[in-house]
Amino acid sequence: VSDWQGMNVTVAGLGVSGVSAARALAGLGARVTVVDGGAGETHEARAAELAAAGVVVRLGDAQTLPDGTDLVVTSPGWKPSSPLFAAAAAAGVDVVGDVEIAWRLRGPDAAPWLAITGTNGKTTTTRMLASILTAAGLRTAAIGNIGTPIIDVVLGDERYDVLAVELSSYQLHWAPSLRAHSAAVLNLAPDHLDWHGSMEAYAADKGRIYEGNTVACVYNAADPATEQLVRAADVEEGCRAIGFTLGTPGPSQLGVVEGILVDRAFVADRHKQAQELAEVADVNPPAPHNIANALAAAALARAFGVEPAAVRDGLRAFRPDAHRIEHVAEVEGVAYVDDSKATNTHAAEASLAAYEPIVWIAGGLAKGATFDELVTASAKRLRGVVLIGADRALIREALARHAPEVPVVDLERTDTGAMSAAVREAASLARPGDTVLLAPACASMDMFTNYNERGEAFAEAVRALADEHA
Ligand code: ADP
Repeated sequence: VSDWQGMNVTVAGLGVSGVSAARALAGLGARVTVVDGGAGETHEARAAELAAAGVVVRLGDAQTLPDGTDLVVTSPGWKPSSPLFAAAAAAGVDVVGDVEIAWRLRGPDAAPWLAITGTNGKTTTTRMLASILTAAGLRTAAIGNIGTPIIDVVLGDERYDVLAVELSSYQLHWAPSLRAHSAAVLNLAPDHLDWHGSMEAYAADKGRIYEGNTVACVYNAADPATEQLVRAADVEEGCRAIGFTLGTPGPSQLGVVEGILVDRAFVADRHKQAQELAEVADVNPPAPHNIANALAAAALARAFGVEPAAVRDGLRAFRPDAHRIEHVAEVEGVAYVDDSKATNTHAAEASLAAYEPIVWIAGGLAKGATFDELVTASAKRLRGVVLIGADRALIREALARHAPEVPVVDLERTDTGAMSAAVREAASLARPGDTVLLAPACASMDMFTNYNERGEAFAEAVRALADEHA
């Protein structure tokens, strides 16, 4: 009889992770109720499916805590301030997320977790890490905020030696007992502050990833806030703070020396100061922020005992996901790059730093961001700018303040067809050798379903342009 037998679990949200949690816990004998404020066809259909698995679904009321609830399992979209959680707190009932459930459901000899968080670069770094671990001959998967729901992986039949786990700040907020083997916080910049309430609360949730680490806490030496989180964490004895830097590494760091990624933290040979891991050219693409991602992945792999050659092979085998600094085509000597995934200013700043000169396509939903820092940092690389989307005025004004000499075309459009017009405008601003870069620094939902659709629209417009010039 499992601990879950007869337990009354309320699952908040009928999304992918909620459905996965409800099924899994019902399967273990819990009495599960899913609550969701929504209604309509998709909800009804999911509810019917879950009913067949013995799960009660209550639609149209996301606020009232069902009587007798012993535990609430939440979904990422639900803010900590949601009334349901206030009701749970008042009743003395714990609230946890899917990651916490997955952690509690692991078997005694389950694979250790190498965990990754950060404002940007999580998915890329997690996949790089999985690629390195695979190259080392280890059975692994990239999970967490990506791929198969984490609970399904933990309860599945597949056996793993180690898992590469991407964790969002939301997931960390609700995962109090998670204890990773080693973990990395890639960077910290303001994002999702509406959810967390403040930068301090956001940082504290990210910092939870280091709690109880046994081997290494990996931080970004260029981002002191990440190192502070390591210092604040309560870790196991002997666990080391390991930095990564794009410059020459200090002791206990990984870094770059003359185009080579080197490790000074995990050198087995006492007579050696550093261990060469890979060349910068082995990183895909070799943009500065992505080399940082590669170093973080390498640090976690090395903490797990992976040999240098596997780091190199894993990095070489890695292919970035779509819409993340993806080279689409070259037309008339101009490169067209899709970084639709740059949905905040910190991400856009990283990809703008990787090219010069750039014709920049930007705009969308700003989510409360300001653009002064981004524009100031990138101004000298800009050949021109094409603006689309709802909050384009914010970017236009920042450009007028900090880069008045850069030509700006404001399309004043928020319709889906605006992307192809933007590509045409960009083409006429660009000269051979330039890069036209879609790095919107904004969310996409004002014009598209998501960043994928936005990236597809860009790629399609570029291909149409290429056809005309073929
Ligand atoms: P996440 O999973 O954190 O959203 P991704 O790996 O999907 O991160 O990358 C999202 C975007 O963030 C990329 O398209 C790129 O523009 C940017 N990015 C990736 N890595 C970094 C980094 N280390 N620092 C800053 N920006 C980054």
